[in-house]
Amino acid sequence: MSTGVAVLGSTGSIGCATLQVLSRHRDRFHVTALTAHSNVELLDRQTAEWRPAFVGLVNGKTGTRGGKGAACLVDAATHPDARIVVNGIVGAAGLAATLAALRAGKRVALANKESLVMAGDLVLKAAREGKGEIVPVDSEHSAVLQCVTGQRPGELRRLILTASGGPFRTWEPSRTARATVAEALNHPTWKMGKKITIDSATLVNKALEVIEAHFLFALGYDRLEVVIHPQSVIHGFVEFADGSVLAQLGFPNMELPILYALTYPGRLPDEGSRRFDPITAGPLTFEPVAPERFPAFRLGRAAGETGRSAPAAFNAANEEAVQAFLEGRIPFGRITETIAAVLDRHHPTGLDSLESVLAVDAEARRLARERMCS
Ligand code: NAD
Ligand code: MG
Repeated sequence: MSTGVAVLGSTGSIGCATLQVLSRHRDRFHVTALTAHSNVELLDRQTAEWRPAFVGLVNGKTGTRGGKGAACLVDAATHPDARIVVNGIVGAAGLAATLAALRAGKRVALANKESLVMAGDLVLKAAREGKGEIVPVDSEHSAVLQCVTGQRPGELRRLILTASGGPFRTWEPSRTARATVAEALNHPTWKMGKKITIDSATLVNKALEVIEAHFLFALGYDRLEVVIHPQSVIHGFVEFADGSVLAQLGFPNMELPILYALTYPGRLPDEGSRRFDPITAGPLTFEPVAPERFPAFRLGRAAGETGRSAPAAFNAANEEAVQAFLEGRIPFGRITETIAAVLDRHHPTGLDSLESVLAVDAEARRLARERMCS
């Protein structure tokens, strides 16, 4: 029987890669819903090809099957024919759909890491109560999942997530602070959407991923480590109670983790990604995260450790600052400074509803904008 898949954020980097994967497995999957923010031309082309039952455009209007406004994301995420929801929306805008899909008992193939960062406890609760399932798409978390599948949860000792280090890994911090948008978007190993590419340059992305791993794998922060690995070939390491370490390898390509999230815990024969070859992959190198080069990483990790609403405030401040940087309103160095200023003024509170999360998000954005204007 064919499995219905809703693809949220279908016009983005993850969305397009998902449709690419699905196009090789049309016998197993069909597309139930597609959503996009505003790229109506691409959405129309995807709709013509995939004939989904539901199409949603947040900012604009589509044809007869169309929904509009932010509510269309929840409609797509809870569509009765969707067994799997791929959440490829960028940023806080993806949270409501993650919660709704999990409450409706769907498998959420989660690329939108911001959902777990903003509201990890609520997301896990939604999954428990709705009998939904979260399967990570993020390559590092997919790597960890692939290593731990079939193992006993209590025997997991430590995770080590890898980070490429981004374009500024070897730059002097004073030079990085003045980096242009083009320099920051020039990622050495991954081709991704703009927001996550900037997050990879500040290493905010890796802080978000540490928080994501904390919730996905139920591990304390003392068991979550990060190492810089410029080749992006090893995506994650898992250490077990006896000291044995497993890792998952592959040339950087999101189609593999996307496919695994669709087929987990099984696998499907697939020729989509470049065949791994150790000779061309090597040599593989590793270095510690240099705190003076990546101050935002430490801020995000600390927000994770503080818990409660701190990660949501960190995420919101970062989203506002990244947007401002991409629009040329602040220099690169002010992204971290803005996040630090917002966290400084943030009083962590408990989060018990989507509304309470969105209130923290809005307040942190307001503080960030205020800071960036001064
Ligand atoms: P992208 O910018 O390429 O695409 C984002 C998608 O979200 C687009 O389809 C856009 O229409 C939609 N969108 C944007 N704002 C929206 C809003 N307000 N409401 C509804 N839809 C909206 O981003 P991406 O690189 O595909 O990243 C998507 C998510 O996946 C992010 O959370 C990112 O961190 C995560 N991720 C991406 C990659 C990657 O390789 N691109 C890897 C790991 C994780
Ligand atoms: Mg990642």
